[in-house]
Formats: sequence, structure tokens, C-alpha cells
Amino acid sequence: MEEILYKSTRNSKLRMSASKAILQGLSEDGGLFMPTKIPEFDVSFDELKTMDYRGVAYEVMKLYFSDFTEEELKHCIASAYDEKFDTENIVDLVYADKAYYLELFHGATIAFKDMALSILPHLMTTAAKKNDIDNDIVILTATSGDTGKAALAGFDSVPGTKIIVFYPKGGVSFIQERQMVTQTGLNTCVIGIKGNFDDAQSAVKNLFADKELKASLSAKGYQFSSANSINIGRLIPQIVYYVYSYVKLLAEGKISDGEKINVTVPTGNFGNILAAYMAKRMGLPIDKLICASNENKVLYDFFTTGVYDRNRDFKLTNSPSMDILISSNLERLIYLATGEDDSKNIKLMNSLKETGRYDISADMKSFMNDFVAGFATEEDTLAQIAKLYSDTGYVLDTHTAVASYVYDEYRKKTGDDTKTVIASTASPYKFTPNVLKAIDKDCASEDAFELVDRLSELSGVKVPRAVEEIRNAKIMHDKVVEVSEMKDAVCDFLK
Ligand SMILES: *Cc1c(COP(=O)(O)O)cnc(C)c1O
Repeated sequence: MEEILYKSTRNSKLRMSASKAILQGLSEDGGLFMPTKIPEFDVSFDELKTMDYRGVAYEVMKLYFSDFTEEELKHCIASAYDEKFDTENIVDLVYADKAYYLELFHGATIAFKDMALSILPHLMTTAAKKNDIDNDIVILTATSGDTGKAALAGFDSVPGTKIIVFYPKGGVSFIQERQMVTQTGLNTCVIGIKGNFDDAQSAVKNLFADKELKASLSAKGYQFSSANSINIGRLIPQIVYYVYSYVKLLAEGKISDGEKINVTVPTGNFGNILAAYMAKRMGLPIDKLICASNENKVLYDFFTTGVYDRNRDFKLTNSPSMDILISSNLERLIYLATGEDDSKNIKLMNSLKETGRYDISADMKSFMNDFVAGFATEEDTLAQIAKLYSDTGYVLDTHTAVASYVYDEYRKKTGDDTKTVIASTASPYKFTPNVLKAIDKDCASEDAFELVDRLSELSGVKVPRAVEEIRNAKIMHDKVVEVSEMKDAVCDFLK
């Protein structure tokens, strides 16, 4: 098989193996790793459609992680996609109101981040072994709510690793915060910051780039890695479920051979939808990629005008995992759109850093023609949950509802009735108060767990294990710091 290496979006000459790129997370020049080539499938969709999730996962990941042996990769896949998921299929595809909802929330923390974060620790520890790394790996992560818990769950008690998670205090849902601060495992550390997600993410990026810190940690036997969605070890596993859902539709006779589908993705950091785009580039018959934003609609503005501009007020919305003004993974699409020209990409990213905005050329904009963008307000989001519930009985979480609304609007506007998969990124139980606000207006309870029980009554869906577990769990982490104190907090935990 052809070996795929990784280069940086800020240094096209760099060449690194997949395992090294996974360990490092972010390139030293501040760029993101990209494969030297986007591989094509070497098995047919007819073969893929007979496989289960693990089988498809292997066929996709072997193309990208070409320095892992078959045995290593299959071991990682088997350790990740097991009984931690509450559906045997790992992901389910549910038809409701003219679209297929790809339920990506059946893992340990009931949001789609589990899809990649259940395998990342195994990829990382395998990569460390392959590269004779003796240092402990310290995962440093900023979260808008879902990454944090999914990473904590993935790395909890994994030998040779420690994990530190920063979340915006007051910027995540009750259930999200409770899930994180009750995390057990001596190798875990959870810290609230006085700032928003972008503040946390920028500060974490700075810690990664801090050479002094790196040297002093190295002397203590530690090295940083990232579990954020910029890690190639997260991006690639996310390609799998788009392939899986396509061949599932094929196997069930819902689409014919070669038929194109549209994909709609509720978007924040641009990782999930970028994975769908990579699947398309590999040859998966996808037509439009519909990028759905909430009121922090930088991406909507970007795709409609060609100007990325983060100079605006940050809004806390009822879809908090998408409350993001700097979508890190967009840099990968920008890089591809420049024709993989690192110096052009660097110019744009410097402009983003210095002025908060950049403009792309007409050529770059037409390169992105497959992307369509829309956004939903908080009211649109709740109305969409109510509509789907009253029409079909199916209950969406707020993030998925953003995508569902944007898809409906797209369809109305264009008349495009191409079969569509909507990425369903969280269980409604993760955002119960807002979901109930939409479907049970008279519910007056303020108690998070009473609301959970009420949602179960209304939806007929059993309360997931992930929520049952935290009802009475003990708080293990209560530290809150200023953004400027994050470095000290890291050193403190590792001393
Ligand atoms: C992280 C997240 C998103 C956004 O995904 P990106 O890959 O960051 O675009 C959407 N919905 C939920 C529930 C999430 O946790």
C-alpha cells in the first residue's frame, strides 16, 4: 500500500509519519497536519456495504494511518468501538421528516466526539510505542463542552497518559459540566476558565507553542499532545461514519449504485464537516455539504461572502458546542483551496491573527462551491425541535436541530430533493432543559434530573447510562482560573 505522510498547512515541505503526526497534534509551525495525498478507496462500495462499522473503519483508516500494521490498527478499532456504545451498530440511521439522521451519539458521553475520542487514546499509545517514546503523554485540551468529557472518558486511567481539560465556566450545559467535574481517574484534571471557548482554545495553542514550557516538561518526562479536533487522529476516524452511512443506505436499497447524497452538518470547529468533505474527495458520492451554524455565524458569512471575520460579539446560544468564532479546521480547507500553497495560507492565517479577518480570492471561493451554508437562531432551533416532535415523535437535540432547520430552509429555497444525511451530533439528554422548553412549554421544574425523567416520558427513549451515572456522582474537580493563569495551572498539576 502507498505510504501516506503528513505535511503542515504552514510548511508543505514537512514530511512526517501518521503516528508522529498523531503524537504531535499540531505542527511546530502552528499549522495543521494534512495528508500528502487524499487516498482513494481500494475496496468497492459493494464490498463495504457488507461490513460492520469496525470493518468500514479499518478500510478507511488503513489508507491514512499507513505506518500502523493491520494488527495494530484492528486492535485500536476493536478497543474503541465496543460495548461502550449503546447500539450494536455503533451509529444508527433514523429516517424522520424527509432526511436520514445519522445518530453519532451512542458512545460513552452521548455526543459525536465519542466517535473519534474513543479511538484516539489507542492510536496515541500505539503511536508512542512505535516511536519508542518514554515520556508520559500529556493531553491538553480546550473544550466547548463535549470534547472535554469525551477525551476524559477516553484517557481515564490509560497508562502513560495524563489529561488536562479547560472549559469556559458558565459556557457549557449543566449536564456537560457535571459530566466533566465528576470525572474520576488520577491522571485527569478539569479546570474552568473565566473566558469563552475561543479564549481557552487560543491559550491552549499558545501553551503548545511555548518552547520554554516544552523544555521544562521534557526534563520532567512529559510531552504535550492534543486531543482537539485539529489532531489528525480525530479527523480521520470521523470520515468513517459518512462512508458507513452511505453504504448502509445502499445496502438497505434506499439509494442506488453511484447515487449522490447531500450531507448536512451542525458546525463549530469545522472538523465534522471537513471529514465529510474528505470522504467526498476519496470518492464517496456526496453532492452538497451543507454547513449549519447557530447565531455565531462566521462560517455562514464566510461561505456567502468569501470574507472570514471574527470581529463580532460572541453569543452564548442554546447550541453551546457550536459557539465558536475561530473554526480551527477551516485552515485545512483554506490550504487545499490555495492549491496547497503554504505561503498563501500563512498570509491568511497571519491576517486572522492580526486583524481578526481575511479575504479569499475568487478562485478559492469557487473551489468551495460544494459547500452551502445556513444558520438558525435560538428561536428557529427550538421551533424545529417542536415541529419534528409534533410531526414525527422524534426528538432532536439543539445542535442537530440547527442542522435540521438549515436543511429545511435549503430544500425550500432550492427545491433540491437529493437524499440527505443529517449528522445528529448529540443526544437530546445532553441538553434537556432547552429541548423540553421546545416540546413541553408548561414544564416548570428547575431540577436537571427531574427534567431528564420528563424527557424520557415524552420521548419514550430510556435515559442513557451516561446520564444515570452522574445523578449522584461526587464532584472531583472545582478549580476555576483566569486565562492568564492557565500555564501555572498546568505546571501545578504536573509538578
Ligand atoms: C463539537 C460539536 C459540534 C461541532 O462539531 P465541529 O466538528 O467542531 O464542527 C456540533 N454538535 C455537537 C453536539 C458537538 O459536540
